[in-house]
Amino acid sequence: MQTAMLDVQKIREDFPILKREVNGKPLVYFDNAATSQTPKQVMDVIVDYYSRYNANIHRGVHTLSQEATDAYEQARVKVQEHFNAAKPYEIIFTSGTTHSINMVAHGFGSLLKKGDEVIVSALEHHSNIVPWQMLCEQTGATLKVIPMNDRGELRMDAYEELLSANTKLVFCNHISNALGTINPIETIIKKAHAVGAAVLVDGAQACPHVKPDMQALDVDFYVASAHKMCGPTGMGMLYGKEEWLEKLPPYQGGGEMIETVTFEKTTYAGLPHKFEAGTPNVCGGIAFGAAIDYMNAIGFGTIAHYEHELLEYGTKKLLEIEGLKIYGTAKNKTSVISFNIEGIHPYDIGTIVDKLGIAVRTGHHCAQPIMDYYQIPGTVRASFAFYNTKQEIDALVAAVKKAKMMLT
Ligand SMILES: *Cc1c(COP(=O)(O)O)cnc(C)c1O
Repeated sequence: MQTAMLDVQKIREDFPILKREVNGKPLVYFDNAATSQTPKQVMDVIVDYYSRYNANIHRGVHTLSQEATDAYEQARVKVQEHFNAAKPYEIIFTSGTTHSINMVAHGFGSLLKKGDEVIVSALEHHSNIVPWQMLCEQTGATLKVIPMNDRGELRMDAYEELLSANTKLVFCNHISNALGTINPIETIIKKAHAVGAAVLVDGAQACPHVKPDMQALDVDFYVASAHKMCGPTGMGMLYGKEEWLEKLPPYQGGGEMIETVTFEKTTYAGLPHKFEAGTPNVCGGIAFGAAIDYMNAIGFGTIAHYEHELLEYGTKKLLEIEGLKIYGTAKNKTSVISFNIEGIHPYDIGTIVDKLGIAVRTGHHCAQPIMDYYQIPGTVRASFAFYNTKQEIDALVAAVKKAKMMLT
């Protein structure tokens, strides 16, 4: 991994949105864990697609269709290489993490039975809880939860106790969107495999910060959204080991996913098309590839190093505010700071700092069980990306101080 110095002023030139004002103040965008901003290199690829070779793919013999097909399939190879999947067809293009998870949950509907057990972590996003609850209801399997501790880390001792020969599946996020905790997925995967269970890792929050290696992790399924890593919304991926993708039934029926169709019987297309029914988000796939290129050109080592500096700086500065409490103090965490000020509702802080041009997230962050654990309605969450600066953190700290003064 390269760890060159990051020239943040130069990088900010790539993001036109960072120049805009909100409520008469320069925008400070600290909602990166919800969605990242888009560099002009990615926008250019989108404009180029619609300007020059917009066409439906995989079925036309004409030039535009072939150019679009080539670009889309090249993007798949880019994603494959980035995640170090063994085969390009182990990458299924989806509309995002939620879609990917539902695809796997649906597939397991025919593989689970009563008495089987499914384990999720206490740190999950709702999109990695609800589909499994639905799956358990449908199959009679039991859902078990890996508990967390006060720092927002998973209790690995408890995890080991949950595992048994009945465990069929384990679901865990790589990095928590609500707290920033980096989970020990290497260990989680190894221990699950030791009892014969498959593992799905939700990488939505990890992929903007790290470059996960599918083969080194030996993970069965890994899912991500392009819009959290400088790409467009409505685009994501499901990585699945070939043997698993072969075993799972298709998610949707339609065009693109078939080999032959008669009214008596339809045979399905091979991977990855079996899971890609209908006309896909062609431009989104190509733009996803461009986003990966963009981030790799900066380097994930460089990004992680710089974001860690922002995290340490922001943590120190925010803790100087009296009555401010940070939730999620795991030893390994990314640049997410979830906090509250004693006696003040997070929503009120969010509203006031927005008046000052600062975008933070308030609420339960689609992770209500975590909020229940801390017995709070929600938090204010500031999440930093590699295009943010320490000066922006200073602006946040000043705004939070002001909000505190106004609200107490
Ligand atoms: C954002 C996020 C999701 C959902 O992603 P979508 O793009 O909305 O489908 C799931 N899990 C985690 C950890 C997330 O951060």
